[in-house]
Amino acid sequence: MKIKGKPIFRILLFCLFFQPLSGCHKEAADQNVFIDNGKIKLGFNKHTGSLSCFSDLLNSYDWLEENTNKGSPWAIEFLQPEGIETIDINSAAKFRYSKPNPATLILRWKRFAGTGNRNLEVTATITLENDKALSLWKISVNNIRSKPIKQVIFPRIEGLKDTGEEYLAVPQWMGHIMKDPRKHLSEIQGNIRKFEWLYPGLSLQCLALYNPDKCGFYASCNDSLVYNKSFSFSLNATGELDYEMHHFPSLDSLNTSYEPPYAAVIGFFKGDWITAADIYREWGSKQRWARESRLKKNLTPQWLENTALWVWNRGRSDNVLVPAAELKQRLGLPVNVFWHWWHGCSYDDGFPEYLPPREGRHSFISAITAAQEKGIRAIVYMNQRLWGTTTESWKNENAPAYAVKDPDGRINTHIYNIFTNKPTASMCLGTQFWKDKYASLSDSAVNTYKANGIYMDQACLALNCYDRNHGHPAGPGNYWFINFNRLSDQIRSEISEEKQLVLAGEGCGEAWLPSLDAFLTLDVSVERYAGLGPWETIPFFQAVYHPYAITYGNYSSLLVPPYDELWPGEYAPKKPLEMLDKAFNKQFLMEQARSFVWGMQPTIANYQDFLARERKEEVGYLLNLARVRNQALKYLLYGRFLRSPDIELPEGELDISRLSIYAGKHGESVTTFRGRFPLLYAGTWQADDMDLGIALASISDDPVKITFDFSSDFYHLPPDGNIFIIDREGRKRLTAYSAREVKVDFTLKPRDACILEITSDK
Ligand SMILES: [Zn+2]
Repeated sequence: MKIKGKPIFRILLFCLFFQPLSGCHKEAADQNVFIDNGKIKLGFNKHTGSLSCFSDLLNSYDWLEENTNKGSPWAIEFLQPEGIETIDINSAAKFRYSKPNPATLILRWKRFAGTGNRNLEVTATITLENDKALSLWKISVNNIRSKPIKQVIFPRIEGLKDTGEEYLAVPQWMGHIMKDPRKHLSEIQGNIRKFEWLYPGLSLQCLALYNPDKCGFYASCNDSLVYNKSFSFSLNATGELDYEMHHFPSLDSLNTSYEPPYAAVIGFFKGDWITAADIYREWGSKQRWARESRLKKNLTPQWLENTALWVWNRGRSDNVLVPAAELKQRLGLPVNVFWHWWHGCSYDDGFPEYLPPREGRHSFISAITAAQEKGIRAIVYMNQRLWGTTTESWKNENAPAYAVKDPDGRINTHIYNIFTNKPTASMCLGTQFWKDKYASLSDSAVNTYKANGIYMDQACLALNCYDRNHGHPAGPGNYWFINFNRLSDQIRSEISEEKQLVLAGEGCGEAWLPSLDAFLTLDVSVERYAGLGPWETIPFFQAVYHPYAITYGNYSSLLVPPYDELWPGEYAPKKPLEMLDKAFNKQFLMEQARSFVWGMQPTIANYQDFLARERKEEVGYLLNLARVRNQALKYLLYGRFLRSPDIELPEGELDISRLSIYAGKHGESVTTFRGRFPLLYAGTWQADDMDLGIALASISDDPVKITFDFSSDFYHLPPDGNIFIIDREGRKRLTAYSAREVKVDFTLKPRDACILEITSDK
């Protein structure tokens, strides 16, 4: 065939013909077996079962490095008396494959070397989904002969090629994103250069590695039963990037086989983390936890949904309820209280000796009752798993019998309190003893002490307990999550519906949606507790689950960290309630702006009434956000998160304070940084009626000109309609749009916020 064309075209053809042979290339067909659905192509070596082709057909990208040591798609680590014994495909003398249909491969390895492995069989089944760039990976391990397994790694995808300009998005709590993960991995000292995340802990089961302009690697899992597992990215010995999923069987000596009751999901996409969230939402929103979410089922008390602002204060009622009442007066909307250090014991080391409250029974009950008469409700802190091992009750109530045990049967303790150095242990949620204890404390806090809810610290995680007397499988499993559900049911069963109990928890997690009414997502304040690092916060959890979960909270404070009066006096700050340097005011605004545009209930930590005078602009900013948000709940409380239009976001340098969460031991509570951050924040939300709300919050000292346009089709809006602006002055029409062309052009005042509403309303 004669090829005509300009030189550049010829070069392109040359490149096509002379690209190096990859494992996906046709010439490799005699060595490999493939499955291919037109979107994704996978190939395995016919003789060994190694992964040889991993190709995104839609975006013409072969993900495996050309000269990579084509890896074993799995590994199994057995626990042996002499240490860990690891096997993979290289340990098998026999490999067979079958292709029962064009979309499915069954790979089977047998005759393993090593004592006790003779009859072992490992079977992997890989299926391509119809019409999607997704594949399902199942593994089963048979004839284990009672050898305990530490972990099964599957799939393992070795040598993921660098797409350049790469991002890694991970739903750690709310969600974090890192630019250039390979570089950051390579900077890790030591032999193991790995990021690994436990689920639960990850709030959902999906990770994304991508170049937004080129292609993306989607790693997920369809486990609706919430088994403990982990996901990792690491650099191998040759500096290539590997992805692995880690499965942890329970240590049941009778087991002869292991097969996770779910499949790993691997796929490709083009876009960014929001695209990945869209893919995951399609599965996640169909699961039991979404159907039975308390918000979706209208089980969350109305007062929680009406909360316009949380005050997160600590200590006695006059330091908590009085400032909240003042702020409620100022705001003119519902303000409720998230209350730490109300309890009789010292924070972190005296749990669970919460009762009676430190200010005494009578004082507490009369203060909370008076606050409730003013419309202020309070949720009180109670850690849902810690018990101080130096407390009297630890011994008197025989708590050690019901604490979490490690594989050697020991109780691991942890010292959270740097002032007293007194340790705590984790209680096992799998025991009825601990559920009874915690439910009884909750009963007293609500029924006797009149609290409106309980904040269950350290929720949305799952521990492994190896105590065989606790009635749960030893080691990993899904019993922690199941027992959290039972605990929340038990608490609710002892409290009448009239009390409108709210259960809130730390962090967020898809599986907790049916148990908890509200989720504390502190990642908006990541700089305040972690400084400036490679990870930035993204609203990954909200992008998937916002219509199913109320998220709230931040560390956003204008004061130095507080100090518990029950801690040793020698470390107490000389000037309690001291204000933070004004240089950090912008950081406060930034945290509040993020919460607003990411659809969270606003919160201020450590509020005192003098701040309304001394930090007038900052408090005013927060109140303005709360007022604007309150007019737009169909978006910011109930709406679906969508990708924002292309809006130019000006940036600026900000002073950042990192604080120890509580007062530092020698007064060194603040470390400072300087970083570059957006001065305008945007979040786009679609209501059930399909109206679109674009939340905008400026922290700039200058007016910000906002111009952008988009097609109404992108958001499934009618071709003609109106654009309203909702701000401190109410709702007014900005302009109309027609012929599908939505054009926005207006100026946002310095440090102001609004919702742009795009609707067919007149
Ligand atoms: Zn246990």
